[in-house]
Amino acid sequence: MERTADSKTSLRIAIQKSGRLTDKTIDLLKGIGLRFDDYKRNLLVKCRNFDVELLLIRDDDIPEYVQDGVCDLGFVGANVTAETGANVSVLRDLDYGVCRLSLAAPKDGDIQTTEDFDGKTIATSYPKLTRDFLDKQELNANIVTISGAVEVAPRLEVADAIVDLVSTGNTLKANGLQELNTILESETQLIRTNKELSPGKKELIDKFLQRMDGHQQAERSRYIMMNAPKKAVPKIKDIIPSLNSPTVMPLADEDMVAIHTVIPIDQFWIVMEKLKAEGATGIVILPIESMIL
Ligand code: ATP
Ligand code: ZN
Repeated sequence: MERTADSKTSLRIAIQKSGRLTDKTIDLLKGIGLRFDDYKRNLLVKCRNFDVELLLIRDDDIPEYVQDGVCDLGFVGANVTAETGANVSVLRDLDYGVCRLSLAAPKDGDIQTTEDFDGKTIATSYPKLTRDFLDKQELNANIVTISGAVEVAPRLEVADAIVDLVSTGNTLKANGLQELNTILESETQLIRTNKELSPGKKELIDKFLQRMDGHQQAERSRYIMMNAPKKAVPKIKDIIPSLNSPTVMPLADEDMVAIHTVIPIDQFWIVMEKLKAEGATGIVILPIESMIL
């Protein structure tokens, strides 16, 4: 019998065992209320309060495990999924693990533009994406696949240039390299198997997504409370980019009211300044645990 994740009822989720994505993914899962026993020492960890088990593996293996249905979901960088070419669906883009796959060459060397890569040797851990890029640009370069410390390859004269992941660019700079082209912009994604799943599992995925969306929305919002002159309420209502109408409550001082509302974090300071200008005082800002819309 073919053994797929669907032959079990628990939702099986693949996450990186130990690396850049691990802590943020675990925080996210804890943030949506999932509780696990020691995940650092085990390969497979059952969640205590949700029908989920985590499979902790190398990130390179995640897209294929999800493709094959060994796991139903996975948290992995878009760069890895693209490199493996796995047949999976992207359910959500998440805003951590943000980086780009870039072509870089020694700063003062003879490679200064993309065309100069013709006939050169490029070291990378991303041979497929590099090949696709070179083909698209109609460039003929040799690719040397290496699995780590790609940035030192030019200094070791293993290659003339590299294709590697960059976030701040400091590693490139420290190795005397300059970035010339971006091949791919990447971030962590939640991916799903394209294998047919049972109704029970589909329902679990819907519940899981609902929690994730609520958590993300909450992280991007703040609950604010303030006192304001009663006559300023219409103007304050206009200022607040609220999801719902704000709650307005009377205070002992009849000319004043208390206003409670939720605002998106990206508009926070602008809204705050406008509210103060309308006479709002005692403004209190609180984080939100989750939101169900
Ligand atoms: P594993 O042992 O799981 O194979 P790894 O060494 O391949 O780990 P990490 O270095 O932990 O992987 O990176 C995991 C992911 O983090 C990358 O695939 C990428 O999506 C993301 N990432 C974000 N910024 C960077 C960066 N500057 N360098 C490398 N990866 C980055
Ligand atoms: Zn890896």
